[in-house]
Amino acid sequence: MQHDALSLTSGFSAHDPCYAMPSEFDLIRRYFTHPARSADMAVGDDAALFRTAPDVQLAVTTDTLAAGTHFFHDTPPHDLGWKTLAVNLSDLAAMGATPRWATLALTLPAVDEGWVAAFAKGFFDCAGRYGMELVGGDTTRGPLAMTVTLFGEVPMGQAITRAGGLPGDDLWVSGWPGLAALGLMSLQNRVKLVDADSALAALHRPMPRVEAGEALRGIAHAMIDVSDGLAGDLAHLCERSKLGALLDMGALPLAPLIATGVDESLARQALLAGGDDYELLFSAPPQARDVLAALARTLDLPFTRIGQFTEKAGTILLADGPKVPLRPLDVRGYDHFALPG
Ligand code: ADP
Ligand code: MG
Repeated sequence: MQHDALSLTSGFSAHDPCYAMPSEFDLIRRYFTHPARSADMAVGDDAALFRTAPDVQLAVTTDTLAAGTHFFHDTPPHDLGWKTLAVNLSDLAAMGATPRWATLALTLPAVDEGWVAAFAKGFFDCAGRYGMELVGGDTTRGPLAMTVTLFGEVPMGQAITRAGGLPGDDLWVSGWPGLAALGLMSLQNRVKLVDADSALAALHRPMPRVEAGEALRGIAHAMIDVSDGLAGDLAHLCERSKLGALLDMGALPLAPLIATGVDESLARQALLAGGDDYELLFSAPPQARDVLAALARTLDLPFTRIGQFTEKAGTILLADGPKVPLRPLDVRGYDHFALPG
């Protein structure tokens, strides 16, 4: 990809070599090269090399964040580095996989070394937190975007798919879905939050539920990560499990949302139709309730039981609590799932 390479437009200036912009290779060497730990070959050669055990399945996922579509151009680069990896980690978490290796394709409009340094710091902070390694990537010029591909491991046959749900399973959600949507709305001045800190932290520095995903192997029947609003992601879970769901509107974990200063109706909308949460939505048999309560305490992460799977494929019924029609919240211009009241 020589045409797009940053090095073509940087390189040394004949007049003042001190002002030379760092080349693509300088950036990779300075900011994206850490010594390989578990990989046999990481950054620096034509391809990365790593080994997986014979009784392990490789879980692979990729996601792109594009400026203007997934984040504002002025998002702090450290947060962006963190989030770029975190959103991908959430997909591995949702399979019950253990994250191991990542590649990063970075498209930059120009070389702003301070920006790259902060972005890389955020990326490696997240990689370190989740015990994974950057083993390769690509660096080119163009509209700001980053694509991460993640490789994770899961013991043979133990991945938790969207399709494994059984009628009568409880439905659970981790953490505080809806907070990130409120954070986005407050940045857009569409809502005034009394306390915006938790909402902005959820938006900028999501904590993918990797440990929870791993611990749910052998417990959860079906699982998905909540990235496009709980209602839409529940619909995906129902579709793949060929089931319906009864959603207990009175059980939704609204308290942390209401604590930011919004009313109950907006809190509910943010939770059901928001986005960017990266929580886990999963099903488990009712016999697992005690185990799940203990696990939530161990992980210091709430699991809220919000309903159950039903036989009637494709229908999501709302039980207990106000029967509100789920209008699309339209936080990011998505085609949000809309439910009848
Ligand atoms: P090639 O032209 O063979 O693709 P590159 O010059 O693109 O090689 O990359 C050189 C090395 O740097 C490769 O190991 C590649 O995986 C790695 N690399 C390039 N960009 C990044 C990045 N943003 N993050 C991590 N590794 C990178
Ligand atoms: Mg390349």
